[in-house]
Amino acid sequence: MTTELLFREDAYLRTASARVLAVNERGIELDRTVFYPQGGGQAGDSGMLRRPQGETIAIIDTRKGETPDRVLHVPAPASPVLQPGETVTLEIDWPRRYRLMRLHTALHLLSCVITAPVTGGNIAPDKARLDFDIDFSQLNAERIETNALIVAGAATETVWITDAELDSQPELVKTMSVQPPRGAGRVRLLRIPGIDLQPCGGTHVADIAEIQGIRVLKIRSEGKRNKRVEIALSGSD
Ligand SMILES: [Zn+2]
Repeated sequence: MTTELLFREDAYLRTASARVLAVNERGIELDRTVFYPQGGGQAGDSGMLRRPQGETIAIIDTRKGETPDRVLHVPAPASPVLQPGETVTLEIDWPRRYRLMRLHTALHLLSCVITAPVTGGNIAPDKARLDFDIDFSQLNAERIETNALIVAGAATETVWITDAELDSQPELVKTMSVQPPRGAGRVRLLRIPGIDLQPCGGTHVADIAEIQGIRVLKIRSEGKRNKRVEIALSGSD
């Protein structure tokens, strides 16, 4: 039992129709989905499932199932219970997801303008952060210049390589804490031409100009090897 991950091919898909495969206390499994499950530091999607008669089930979170190609859609408490075989219409909370896509892609830029190993990261709808193994004195909010890149714009591309190709180019892996999933035979990369190339399974904007701009909220030390840089989209609180 697997779920077709529609967001992998098209991160801009907001709706789809799908068949219910299974329902248990952990969540609802579907044969295909536009809901991104929490992973790689990016929050899981929320939204709703709609029955043909119009009844809706609010989805408050999305998590990975027992294997990476299984997805659990977590319903709000006391939701109507779906039955396997039912067909539903999926609808993600698009404004929330689009903020996640913009912030996620912004972190790729941040990992390029700060040249240090990345030790961790997180993307929430309102803010995102990366942790760097860097000397604190080298981090200065005014010198973290991503907005010039954003204004210039660049189309992002998805590239697939084999596990063996990744093994021969270990420098592609910037995030020490999150190794890309191997074993499926191929690994997905995000390329921002001339700026960045790294393994990533998340959802990104098609052009970095869509980020519009970011601001640094905070820089603080989270330990000897962890200096945390927190950002938000500029113009949003
Ligand atoms: Zn990414």
